[in-house]
Amino acid sequence: MEAPLAQLVIGVAERDALMAAARASYPEECCGLLVGRRLSTEGAGAAARGWVTRVIPATNQHPAPRRRFELDPSVHIALLKELRAAGTVGGEELLGHYHSHPDAAAAPSRQDLEQANDPTLIWIIIGPVRGGRTDITAWRVVAGNTGMPAFEGLPLIAGDEFPARPKNA
Ligand SMILES: [Zn+2]
Repeated sequence: MEAPLAQLVIGVAERDALMAAARASYPEECCGLLVGRRLSTEGAGAAARGWVTRVIPATNQHPAPRRRFELDPSVHIALLKELRAAGTVGGEELLGHYHSHPDAAAAPSRQDLEQANDPTLIWIIIGPVRGGRTDITAWRVVAGNTGMPAFEGLPLIAGDEFPARPKNA
């Protein structure tokens, strides 16, 4: 079992691309996939840090795109094939996905919770407000009090260099 991510780092260009995509698709939800690396810290109880290196836009195929999202599955399949072909060479994997909440909070909705069935995937949510600010947040799926899935906020840090530590430090 992989250590849960404790922190998510995203390149400034990738972060800006997500915010631009959310504004461009407004008032509909945008969506896509997040590719990156998972870096573990050594030792017991160690948490892992994720680094988003690429964002892959996908068409929102949901019939009610102003309120819901459904990723084009062909984009998902093509990405998994590409990552499998690359193997461990690039060290990249599917980290999660993103979507936007036009004129709503950049926080998981009740519908999002119904789709939170994979605890290994990170969610990024962008909340563009018409003529206003655009928030961006990251979430991971954990087991809640009742054993049902729940979202937990994940610190999202925009930076162009991953704050790496020497391997044996
Ligand atoms: Zn949502």
